[in-house]
Amino acid sequence: MMNRPKETTMTYEQETDTRLAEVYGEILRLRNRQAGNREQLMYHAGLRKRYTTRSKYTWTNDGDFVEVSFPDALDRVQAMLAESGDEYFNPLSRGGTIQQVRDNLDKLDQLEIDIAKAEGEYMELEAAYTGWSRFFLVTSSRGHIHSSMGCSTCRPTTTYGWLPGLSGLTETDAVAEHGPALCSVCFPTAPVEMVGGWITAAQAQRRAA
Ligand SMILES: [Zn+2]
Repeated sequence: MMNRPKETTMTYEQETDTRLAEVYGEILRLRNRQAGNREQLMYHAGLRKRYTTRSKYTWTNDGDFVEVSFPDALDRVQAMLAESGDEYFNPLSRGGTIQQVRDNLDKLDQLEIDIAKAEGEYMELEAAYTGWSRFFLVTSSRGHIHSSMGCSTCRPTTTYGWLPGLSGLTETDAVAEHGPALCSVCFPTAPVEMVGGWITAAQAQRRAA
């Protein structure tokens, strides 16, 4: 099952999707870092999180329920920087030194450049896609093997891992390598014995790119 010899040379489809999987992972990492740096900026702007549900929140001023957007917070921090000159920077709450605030703004600028570059490469590679078969595992929970990252049986928060080594190959190849776990919606014509098995998130994380 799992010990099929690895191809020594990749096909065009496998090569393209291997690079796409790398760039996809890179974009996720960069966006994660950007979220962290943006959060830092919100604190530098003197804002706090106000939870509206257990997991959802908006950024607000203390004692004030008006939501403040990221661009507004950015304006606010830039105005504070302009006013404070080179003195110690102590905004309304959880402040940092002026250097920390400047460094964070520099990082945010650089992240924007890096994300645009990675997304550009992703779109360029994706533009070369002619519709060959692709296989994805769900990495956020127990799941099936899907043919895209837009499967209607998954949630918007589902995360996927690519299986670029299977790109351009058949459903039978995917099942030979990962077991009969095909998604019935993504692979409506697959024989019933290839469909419906589960792969755990931990297994998926080990197997996927
Ligand atoms: Zn599916």
